[in-house]
Order: sequence, then C-alpha cells, then structure tokens
Amino acid sequence: MTSTWTEPSDSPLTLLLLGKGTDPASERGVDCPGDLPAPSDPDLVARATAAKAALGDRVFVLGHHYQRDEVIQFADVTGDSFKLAQQAAARPDAEFIVFCGVHFMAESADILTTPSQRVILPDLAAGCSMADMAVLGQVETAWEHFQDLGITDQIVPVTYMNSSADIKGFVGRNKGVVCTSSNAKRALDWSFEQGSKVFFLPDQHLGRNTAVLEMGFDLDDCVLYDPHKPHGGLTDEQLINARMILWRGHCSVHGRFTIDSVREVRERVPGVNVLVHPECRHDVVRAADHVGSTEYIIKALDAAPSGSAWAVGTELNLVRRLALAHPDKQIMFLDRTVCYCSTMNRIDLRHLVWTLEELVAGRVPNVITVDEKTAHEARVALDQMLALP
Ligand code: SF4
Repeated sequence: MTSTWTEPSDSPLTLLLLGKGTDPASERGVDCPGDLPAPSDPDLVARATAAKAALGDRVFVLGHHYQRDEVIQFADVTGDSFKLAQQAAARPDAEFIVFCGVHFMAESADILTTPSQRVILPDLAAGCSMADMAVLGQVETAWEHFQDLGITDQIVPVTYMNSSADIKGFVGRNKGVVCTSSNAKRALDWSFEQGSKVFFLPDQHLGRNTAVLEMGFDLDDCVLYDPHKPHGGLTDEQLINARMILWRGHCSVHGRFTIDSVREVRERVPGVNVLVHPECRHDVVRAADHVGSTEYIIKALDAAPSGSAWAVGTELNLVRRLALAHPDKQIMFLDRTVCYCSTMNRIDLRHLVWTLEELVAGRVPNVITVDEKTAHEARVALDQMLALP
C-alpha cells in the first residue's frame, strides 16, 4: 500500500530559530572540532558500515526517535531519552556508547554507565533548548528566595529528564525526583506525599498539563517562575499559596503547535484523531483527543485501526517515520510547516562516520563526562524515579 504522507512545507525561518547558535557556557556544548567528511561523499553509508563492523561489540550506538533516518539505520537500539540511558547501562561490556541524541541524554548515559565506559556525542553542538532554559545558578537563586520565605521544607523539586546533569544533581541534593513524560503523574503523586508544593523544572507545559489534566489541579494552583525577573516575577503571597511552581521553560519544537493547527486539521480532515505530546501548550493539549509520551504515540499509532486518520503533534522525523511505517493509516503532521528539532538534527551521517572512524583510529572524540559529585547527586534523583510506586 502507498503511504499517504505529505511533507509539510519548508520554513527556513523555523529552522533558523530553533536551536540556533551555540553557547559554550550552556548545557548545549560547543562546536564539533573534527574534520568532517564532505556531505556529498557517496561512500558515507559504506564508511559507517565498515567502521561499525571494525569496532564490533566495542561500540554500542543509541538513536533517539527524533534522529534522522540516515543515522537511525546505524542505531543498535532506538528509544526515548530514558530508555536509551537504560539501554546504555545494560551494556557494561561496550567500551564506547555513541549517543545519537542531545547533550543532556549523553550526560544521563554517563551517569548510569560504568566509569570505564566512554559516552560520545557525535556533535557537541547538539544541545536542547529546553534544558538550556534552566541554568544551575538561576535555580539556586530561586531556591535561596524560597528559603528566605521559609517554604523550602514544603517544596519537593521535580525535574524532567530533559535537563542538565547539574539540575538533576540539584534535585537529588534537595530530596526530589526526576520524571519522564511517561511517569510525570506518578512522580507528582509521590512528591505531594512528601510535601505540599512542587518546584517543577524545566518544562512548564509538562508540569502544568500533568497537574491540571491528570491530577485535577486548577490553573490557579500553578504559578510561573521567570528566572529573568526579580523573584521570578512573583509576589511572596503567590509563592506561598502556589502548589505548583513551574519554571519558565519549554520545548521550542513542541511549543510551535497552536490551537489553530488543531482547528485547521479538524476542518481539513473530518474525523481525524489529534494526538500530541505533553510538552505542547496547555490549550493545544486540551483541544487534542489523545496526549502522551513519545513511546505512547508510537504504541497508539501501531494499534490504530487501518484507515484511521491521525494528526500528530511531535517532532517531524518521528512522525514521518511512523507515517511511512503505517501506509494503511492516514498519519500527518499537526502543523503545516516543518518542525524538526534542529539540535537533534545536527547529528547527521557525516558526524557519525567521523566519530566511528576516529574510534577505529584509536582516538576517542567528544566524550561527555559528568563530574563525580554531580553524578552521585543526579543518580539519587534518578534512583528515586526508578523507585516510584
Ligand atoms: S525536541 Fe525539544 S525537548 Fe527534545 S531535544 Fe529538541 S528542544 Fe529539547
């Protein structure tokens, strides 16, 4: 059967704005130092195949769902960020973990793997704009203000997996927990058993959507802490009364879907099912028919009946791959224009070839290392997540 997939129209402005530039002081890292093969090299696939074969079991390649197909074809396993970190931890014999994803994911893999294993990010500029929105110094400033107000003993910090190792370490140090988009409700249920407030980092939308749509909170129970304003732009009274203190962070990719995208697709495709990721804005999630993590989206489309129509609000590489895998279903992108995660997209076949060939030559490039103290504290918060009831 032929796929019904229609490519969204290209938007250079979108690609320019999402994940633009690099900041050496941020989670995102710095530019790749290597001599990359030319993009026109017709032998890139053969070179990657040969280098990977030469390395054999010494290398384990992880591919996040949002990676390009040209990279995914060389992944030993694909998954979301947490599944990939777990997979890395389950391969203690692999000397090199090549993480085709973004910086915070490689950090999590380094935290969970053995000290002798090296975790490698093929392009150090592959960061995450959401993770970059919560910088440790800003978060500590906020916490000091909460201390001045005398409310820290009521607050449990919760950070989404999509955060730097520093932030996970802060959360572990302050008796909090890491969550993923699959277990956010369980993490919040546990947190509200430990305290009466949650400080949710860095994705305001996942925090708000989970609290309001899954736990029955009012929007008024949530306040938005803006790190660029004094005291987060909030009064003492607002902070004292809030149940959810949401960090002002968001995903630049999922934040692009709007309520108009939902209206437009419903008019264009009668009976369409709108399926979105919880990193989307609250009004978009409310207007959708289904909401769930990347793994949920994959399973929902696998199980969907033949002939059904789906408009999917998540990263474009994944939606295209799912549409091509299910030609009997009408799977489309929720927006009319392209919406890649441009930092994920930095890892292309050239970077993978360069990385693998460097390893074959006995050089280990782009190693991601988390210092021991931070790794220990971050592991406390990750272990707490694994112990969630
Ligand atoms: S899709 Fe969003 S949250 Fe995921 S890596 Fe890209 S910017 Fe970060």
